[in-house]
Amino acid sequence: MTRERARTERRDLDKERGEPLAGGAARGGPRALRTPARPRPEWGSSRPRILITNDDGVESRGLLALKQALEPMGDVTVVAPDTNQSAVGHQKTLMRPLRVRERTLADGSMAYSVDGSPTDAVSIAFLGYFGHGFDLVASGINYGANLGDDITYSGTVSAAMEAVINNCPAFAISQEYYEHPDFTLAGIVATVVARNILREGLSRGELINVNVPALSLEETGGIEVTRLGRRVYSDQLVERMDPRGIPYFWIGGPPPSGLAVPGTDFHAVVNRKIAVTPIHLDLTGRRLLKRLRTWSWELPEDDGSGGGTGQTGDTPKPASGRGRPAQTARGTRRRPGAKRGAGLPSAPRRSARADERGTSDG
Ligand code: MN
Repeated sequence: MTRERARTERRDLDKERGEPLAGGAARGGPRALRTPARPRPEWGSSRPRILITNDDGVESRGLLALKQALEPMGDVTVVAPDTNQSAVGHQKTLMRPLRVRERTLADGSMAYSVDGSPTDAVSIAFLGYFGHGFDLVASGINYGANLGDDITYSGTVSAAMEAVINNCPAFAISQEYYEHPDFTLAGIVATVVARNILREGLSRGELINVNVPALSLEETGGIEVTRLGRRVYSDQLVERMDPRGIPYFWIGGPPPSGLAVPGTDFHAVVNRKIAVTPIHLDLTGRRLLKRLRTWSWELPEDDGSGGGTGQTGDTPKPASGRGRPAQTARGTRRRPGAKRGAGLPSAPRRSARADERGTSDG
């Protein structure tokens, strides 16, 4: 089977899968999390195309280490931001042009730089700059860990997320901050992770976040599959004066700590282990989803004045108490054209269409 056909079939499967239904938890969790892995590709004849990127910039030694680690496994292409883009998150550049430049890495090999974010670098690759797609995206090796809440800021992880949005399996790899970083262990780990993803596949929306302690292969306690932990930030707002006498601010303070709860990525790394954490792009709060469906979502009655001003924030409670909002919530999932309950407000009609769209697009 060609990769293109495999992709099309996967897309069709995703369309059928739809939104998680009420009661999903009782059936063993939302459907989107229980899909079969990506069909196993046949790498025998062709080498996988691997895209390498990062957020520390094209000149980073971590990027070079990742490229050198993965190039025996496939055809590697390096495209990365031209400057350090750490903590830019999933920023996408839309309001100015982007320039792509050919670069030479420290080992003499060719790379490309983009004067934008890590997401821009991945976008350019998937929007046709190279004239072909990729089978795997690897982002890193970041200089500094990306544990727990860090992933919400991380350009390294966002680059992998951008790949996943483009239906390409991806992983992000970061190494604990150390004054004189040696990426040997992280390079070895990258090959293990890449081999596993190419062999086993990832489902839609999934990526892997890897954090490596600043140790040698002999010193580490091995790989642990973990969940995201909780970071504890000690950021401080530092106020200084610029040469023209105007104050400016700098977010400073000591590096973040974390809660060393067993099973988390933070706990693994502080205990000399390599943390391999599965991430899913579906950020829906499942517990909150259930609660929200019990809340009142009635829009205020149209009083005929036409304005509606002065009414916001003053949503009346439904007369029938708890039963009614649940009915409204169910109503929003009806297909347009399906028979609607007589007492339902008209607003959910639009929500219903939006929901349908959300269902088919995943
Ligand atoms: Mn970085």
